[in-house]
This record gives sequence, structure tokens and C-alpha cells, in this order.
Amino acid sequence: MRISIKIKFSIFLATLLLLTVFILSMLVLRGIRINQVGQYENYLARQTETANVYLKQTLLTESNKIPQFFLSTKGVEFAKQLELLTGQSVVLYGRNGEAVSTKLTQKDLERISQTLSYALDGKTAYQVEHNMLYYLTPLRVENEQVGVIQFYYSLTEDNLFYNHIKQTLIFIGAVIFLISFLLANFYFNFFAKGIIKLEQLVDRVRKGQYEIKILRRRDEIGRLSEGIFNMSNQIKSTMKGMKEEQEKLALAVNKLSLLDQQQKQFIGNVTHEFKTPLTSIKAYLDLLDMYPDDDKLLENAIINIRSETHRLYEMVDKVLQLSTLEKYDFEYNPERIEIKQIIQTVLQSLSGKLNKFGIKLETELSEAYIVADKDIIIIILINLLDNAIKYNKANGKIILTNHIHNNEIIIEITDTGIGIPKEAANRIFEPFYTVDKNRSRESGGVGLGLSLVKKYMDKLGGSITLMHSDVNGTSFQISFPKAPIE
Ligand code: ADP
Repeated sequence: MRISIKIKFSIFLATLLLLTVFILSMLVLRGIRINQVGQYENYLARQTETANVYLKQTLLTESNKIPQFFLSTKGVEFAKQLELLTGQSVVLYGRNGEAVSTKLTQKDLERISQTLSYALDGKTAYQVEHNMLYYLTPLRVENEQVGVIQFYYSLTEDNLFYNHIKQTLIFIGAVIFLISFLLANFYFNFFAKGIIKLEQLVDRVRKGQYEIKILRRRDEIGRLSEGIFNMSNQIKSTMKGMKEEQEKLALAVNKLSLLDQQQKQFIGNVTHEFKTPLTSIKAYLDLLDMYPDDDKLLENAIINIRSETHRLYEMVDKVLQLSTLEKYDFEYNPERIEIKQIIQTVLQSLSGKLNKFGIKLETELSEAYIVADKDIIIIILINLLDNAIKYNKANGKIILTNHIHNNEIIIEITDTGIGIPKEAANRIFEPFYTVDKNRSRESGGVGLGLSLVKKYMDKLGGSITLMHSDVNGTSFQISFPKAPIE
């Protein structure tokens, strides 16, 4: 069982007071005892003197003046007269210790024998039994001891008084203990409350609840609570900092492992994609080695090696661009450019391809300005338009529009092509992702175009969105911040 500090303090204070009362009581009782002894010793000494004087006077009137003779013959009568004179019970003893005033039993004689022998030696001695005091002192005539006189003195009153005072002091001690305990308890309650509150504050901090209140007190407890408050705030901010650092670290670790994974996948894809055209080129070269005179083979080999080389070239170019974007701050020359004009230039360069596939072009372009690197805008537009041609249907259509919305220049490229399946929509911006490998290969694609466009758009502070796609066609939207008015 835990005893509260309040009770401990109270018991300590009450015990301290009780100890004080005890010591004082002992001193008082000792004083009373000394006083009582002094009083009855004086009184009995006076009585002895009276007895001696009376014996001397009585002997003067006697014919035989020998004291021993007088005591042995008239001891009983003399003792009675002494009793009348002193008001005390008296026993007289002769010079040899024999009782001369009364007959004493053997038991009585044994009881006082030691004290009697002191008195016979000329000394005053007394012994106390219960409430009775046996006072024995020499009986003298002219300084010569003739016997012994014994007084009975009752201590009943003295003892009653002494015991009464003792009980009163015990009662006072008990009352003081109780009152001091209650008062101390009441007084320490105030401090104990503070300590209990401090304990609760510490408990809250231990449980991680750092919102605590300062105790409004002007003493050490108040200052201690202020200390706990400051400490709690310190712990709180340290914990917060640690948590933030931990979260940052976890994010960085996740990012790193993701990057590592992406890099591994990227290298795997590059190796795979490079191998395919190289294998094809190598196979044609091996066949030409075996059949150098086969004209048909030579014709096919030239067509295939050219297209595979073109693919390889395109791929190397895009991979290089991507890894440059990934690792370095690419060379970027922003300038104020008019977007309608750029689009028209790009369309001009693609007109041959459009005609080749019989694709119609519809444009709805207005003049708008952005600040960007011209070459990069051209790469972005070529890639998107190239896809719109590659994945279009025979005699399909491409619609190209631009407009301004919320201070942004928005360009929309819509085609009437084969569309992108829903499940692939989220992945088309990943490097090397192609919906249909064969179709991409036929058209010379390796799944790097859109990831390159996305990377460039991010760097330019713009965005690319696949607006919609189904079996009737696809619509991409790119947006750039509008250039400030000159
Ligand atoms: P690729 O070089 O193979 O064209 P991209 O990164 O440009 O690679 O495109 C990724 C994939 O998204 C393509 O394989 C293709 O299946 C699909 N895709 C891109 N543009 C279109 C479009 N306009 N219409 C249909 N599919 C498209």
C-alpha cells in the first residue's frame, strides 16, 4: 500500500509534537516527584526531632533516667503519647533492634530488617511499599542513640496526585497528537495537491500527451510545473522533428528504391529493344555472306537494314534525350514564341507523311504566345502528331486546335485512330511501354515518344493529358503557361 506524502508529513509533525509533550511531561512528573519526596522527608525529619525532644523531657520526670530501661518498661505507653503528639503511627525499637512498643510478627520484622539495621547504625532510612512509607530513624538522647523510631507515612494522596497529573499529561499528549495531525493534514493538503498535480503532468508527458498546463503558484511547485511545461514542449518539438525526419527518410528510401527499380527496368528494356533490330541486321548480313548473288535477298536486306538502322537511330536519340533529362539540367533556351506559327511549321514538315497515309488535317488555330525553347516545342509536337498519324486509320483525320483558358495556352490534338485501351491509359507515359508491340514496330516506335513528351512538359512547367480515347480515336491535350504581355 502506498502511503501518501500528505499522511507521511502529518504523522511526522504530530509525532514531533508528541515527543516534545512527552519530554516536557517527564520533566514535570520528575519535578513533582522530587517535590513530594522533599516535602515528606522534611516533615518526617521534624517529627523525629519532636520525638527526640519529647523523649528527653519525659526522661527528666522519670526516677530511673536510663533511656533503654525506660523504653523497655514504658515503651508501649510512650509510643501512644508520641502518636497523639505527632499524629503518626509509631513503632519503637530498643538499642538492639527489638520492638518495644508493640509486638511485631516475624514477617513484619523481616520486611524492614535491612532498613532497621541502617537506622541502628545511626542513619535515617526509609522504604516504600505500595502506598506506604516506612521511615526509620535513630532515637537519641544527648546525641546518643538509644533506639530507633519508625513512622508509617501514607503516600496515597501523593500517588493519587502524581497519577492524576500523569493521566492528564497522557490525555494532553493524545489530544495534541490528534489535533496536530489534523491541522498538519489540512495544511499539507495544499502542498500535496500541487505534488499530485505535478505527478499527473509527468504521467501525461510519459504517455506522449504534451499539451499540459502550468500550475499558477508562486512557490517551488509552480516553478517545477513551469519546468515540466518547458521540458514537455522541448520533447514535443524534438519528437515532431524526429518524426518529420523519419518520414522524409522513408520517402527518400522509397523514392530511391523506386528509381533503382525504374533504372533496372529501363536498362533491361534498352538492352531488349536494341537487340531486336541488331539481330535482324546481323541475320541479313549473315544471309548475304552465304548468298552474295541473290538479288532479291540483297533488295530485302537493304530495305530491312535501312529501316532497322533508322529505328536504332531514333531509339538511341530518344534514349539519350531521356537520360539527359533524367540526369542533367538540359540546355534550355527560352524565348517568346508564337505557337500558331510553330504548329504550322511542324505541320508543313509532316505534310509528306500525312499525304502518304491519306490523312486529312483540320486546324482551328489562333495566335498565342508562350515562353519556351522552340526546339523542344517542335519535338513535343512532332511526337504527338507522329503518333496521331501512326495510330490512325486509313483515310483518317487529325484535328488540331488551340485556345486560351485560365491564363494557359491549350493545344488539343485529336485523331480518328485505333484508340488506346482503358487499361493501357495509365501506362502510355512509361518508357518503352507500347500497347501493341507489332504495330509499334511496324511504324518504327519503341514506346519512348510519350515518356519523352511527358518529361519535357514537366521540365517546361506545363502538362500533358490524355483527354479521351476509344475505338473512334484519341485526344491529347497539352497546356503551357501563357507568356506575359510584352
Ligand atoms: P511509340 O514510340 O511506340 O509510339 P509512344 O510512347 O509514343 O511510343 O506511345 C506509347 C503507346 O501509346 C504506343 O505504343 C501506342 O500504342 C499508344 N499511343 C500513343 N499515341 C496514340 C494515339 N494517338 N492513338 C492510339 N494509340 C496511341
